[in-house]
Amino acid sequence: MQFQSLGLAEPICRAIKKEGYTVPTEIQKAAIPVILSGRDVLAAAQTGTGKTASFALPILENLLARRQDSESGNAPHKNAGHRKRELRVLILTPTRELAAQVNESVRAYGQFTKIHSTVVFGGVSIQPQIQALKNGTDILVATPGRLLDLADQKKVDLSRIDTLVLDEADRMLDMGFIRDIRRVLALLPRKRQNLLFSATFSQAILKLTEGLLHKPERIQATPNSSAAVTVDQKVYTVEKDGKVGLLKRLINDGDWQQVLVFTRTKHGANRLTQKLEQSGISAAAIHGNKSQGARTKALAGFKDRQVRVLVATDIAARGLDIEQLPQVVNFDLPNVPEDYVHRIGRTGRAGSPGHAASLVSREEMPLLKNIEKVIKKRLQPTALTAR
Ligand code: AMP
Repeated sequence: MQFQSLGLAEPICRAIKKEGYTVPTEIQKAAIPVILSGRDVLAAAQTGTGKTASFALPILENLLARRQDSESGNAPHKNAGHRKRELRVLILTPTRELAAQVNESVRAYGQFTKIHSTVVFGGVSIQPQIQALKNGTDILVATPGRLLDLADQKKVDLSRIDTLVLDEADRMLDMGFIRDIRRVLALLPRKRQNLLFSATFSQAILKLTEGLLHKPERIQATPNSSAAVTVDQKVYTVEKDGKVGLLKRLINDGDWQQVLVFTRTKHGANRLTQKLEQSGISAAAIHGNKSQGARTKALAGFKDRQVRVLVATDIAARGLDIEQLPQVVNFDLPNVPEDYVHRIGRTGRAGSPGHAASLVSREEMPLLKNIEKVIKKRLQPTALTAR
């Protein structure tokens, strides 16, 4: 199946081609027609499934179609091309990294259209964002807190929004954004299309969707544990004190050049980064205590391959767009089994094979059992070959 057959206009198809996508992913095949039809969507999708394009592409198409309507026939003047941009689409994300990445994707897919997208998030100066909004935009990607700041200051007009996306809604709730989300919702016109994307469906998410979504189409292109099927998962049993040594050995023996390592705590991430650096393996930590600048720098270094190991906590890693990551390591197992699925979902993206290794201490065995229940698969420990 090709993108053209999904009913996307030529400039959008051209951009997709330029991005190097040849066939739509599962979630794209399922979501694009529904979103084009104007219906609400409740989608189960995690990062790495192509979910961003699954909402961004039909949103661009819908905007293009509306624009053509207003420019043909009905427009009284011939100045349609000069009319001011009106904010129509709001995309909310939990983190600034995800906001920036979604905005980049929307811009890439819309590069051959005149549709404009802007991003706003906290932790950086608000003035340039105010200016960008003043210049006009069709699409706004935002984190909830900064959006509310801008709304309080009357710097953003949400009265014409007709499409709302909540991306990674589960993370937004985990991060305590529920009140902010409800405040934003109260500022939007009642009649609009709502698209909610979430990797997991807790009671809290379902409660949020009740008042928000109107007869939503449920899309579950990939079951929650899909990554668990396609990713090669290895488990190494190791004493707590032996983890750093084992990780170094795996990195060196496997000649891993780009590894994402998960730790449970920020402190643990810093400590591990230091130890890797001390033994000559370039590493950087990315977590909530780091400034935006430090995070961007760490991510850029990792993408450029100047940094071999990126050490991250679960929340910081969400929304990191790193293409086709070959190797993910669980230095600690997560407390919540679903986080394991998120983590290994970072490898083997969009069709390329992925590898995940978990370093499991005796204390973590119960966590491993819980994970096995969720992914419905036994994870047999791998024996290390003697040197
Ligand atoms: P996402 O799940 O939105 O974070 O996307 C994961 C990655 O897959 C991104 O790097 C996208 O650029 C890429 N991607 C999205 N759709 C496709 C597609 N149809 N074919 C190939 N790669 C894609």
